[in-house]
Amino acid sequence: MSGIRSTPSPSTPRGICTTAVHAGRTPDAASGSLVPALVQSTTYVQRVPSRPALQTPGDLDAGPIDYDAPASSPAGHCYSRVSNPTVSVLEEALGALEDALPSVCFATGLAAETALFLALLKAGDHVVLGEAIYGGTVRLAQQILAPLGITSTFVDSTNTAAVAAAITPQTKLVFIETPANPTLVLTDIEAVARITRAANVPLAVDNTFLTPVLQRPLDLGADITVYSTTKHIEGHSTALGGAITSRDAGLLDRVRFIRKSTGAIQAPLGAWLTTRGISTLPLRMKQHSRNALTLARWLSVHPQVSAVHYPGLSCFPQADLAAKQHTNPRLGGAHHGGVIAFEVVGGAPAARRVLTGVRLCSLVEHIGSVETLITHPASMTHGDVPPEHRRRVGISDGLIRLSVGLEEPEDVLADLEQAITAAHVGVVRQESGAAIESNVEVGATGTEGRASCLASL
Ligand SMILES: *Cc1c(COP(=O)(O)O)cnc(C)c1O
Repeated sequence: MSGIRSTPSPSTPRGICTTAVHAGRTPDAASGSLVPALVQSTTYVQRVPSRPALQTPGDLDAGPIDYDAPASSPAGHCYSRVSNPTVSVLEEALGALEDALPSVCFATGLAAETALFLALLKAGDHVVLGEAIYGGTVRLAQQILAPLGITSTFVDSTNTAAVAAAITPQTKLVFIETPANPTLVLTDIEAVARITRAANVPLAVDNTFLTPVLQRPLDLGADITVYSTTKHIEGHSTALGGAITSRDAGLLDRVRFIRKSTGAIQAPLGAWLTTRGISTLPLRMKQHSRNALTLARWLSVHPQVSAVHYPGLSCFPQADLAAKQHTNPRLGGAHHGGVIAFEVVGGAPAARRVLTGVRLCSLVEHIGSVETLITHPASMTHGDVPPEHRRRVGISDGLIRLSVGLEEPEDVLADLEQAITAAHVGVVRQESGAAIESNVEVGATGTEGRASCLASL
């Protein structure tokens, strides 16, 4: 079922939880420490003068020394901007989770995206991006890449023909995110990969929402996965980080060269905390998914809720694609992650009251932590995205994003219930200018047929 064999060897595929706990980690030979040491050192003692590891020909800071020798420290490290043992442990662990080469880890998710863009794009090149993506990615394309002469086209990537039509001879990268942030609209990775393969353009998938535990883009034909490890992968809101994962060694070398040259590597403490997070990632992702499904079902029949977006609901328009794409043969079954988006009756004013009325949920710009987090995308995560772009991709001013944590879902449900009820009463009072009215009549609009919206497992 999950690939467990009786006598695992290093080459044997192991269960996903075993990989999560052990990959990349060996007891420290010098101290016997079970947990790999946190190496804060910026530099490494070398036996002889040698060029830095990973240096590529033509790199200017190479000294006139022995050009053929690797770094002569015991593990080949020379300086922590280039590589660091604690970061290397995380890179092996993360790569192993999706049967890829060791990942390349960065200070943040956006640093990882920046390095990917700089590794693949130069002035005159073109990138095709899904239009429903992380706000910071939109800003990077429009405000950083465009002035550098790199043009971008945003397309509705749910329409694979639109992706094909946007590719030009100058296109050097297609970049999508699925499920989309925050609307959870899905892109069919396999279908898009067929198009990018035919056009000989690399396909990158931002897999932050589902992580390699719940979705395997590289198995579906993508060339690169992109992560903000700041979210579910670290999982406890204590370390920023980003990663690029691939099975293409040449591409990863280019990404590593950009990381070294721009100084974007992750700090050792962040990497150490992120590796600790990976140990429980499969367990957490399963539980986040279960809790989110419970809450999505409850929201979908709530009289004051006008829309719920969660790929695990049978009323989700792309439920079939979700069931197919959100699977990992090493985990079994489909799981749809911890993020839900919903709208309350009463639009933006009611949403504002919900966001300020919650007590257990925290109003933050974040997803993927053990705590349940609530966000207003239009003014927070997507505040820098032009309003017409927001409207086009379905980010209404009343949309609420919920990142379901690991509390008992009943407790989160009770908190949302009190906030939604109070918001509704407040809006009714404001609109009528009179005493509190019965909610039932107002709540009934927009809930037509919703009771039939049942969840699938
Ligand atoms: C948060 C996030 C990013 C950016 O990551 P940082 O670590 O905040 O730089 C990119 N993509 C998605 C989907 C995200 O949620």
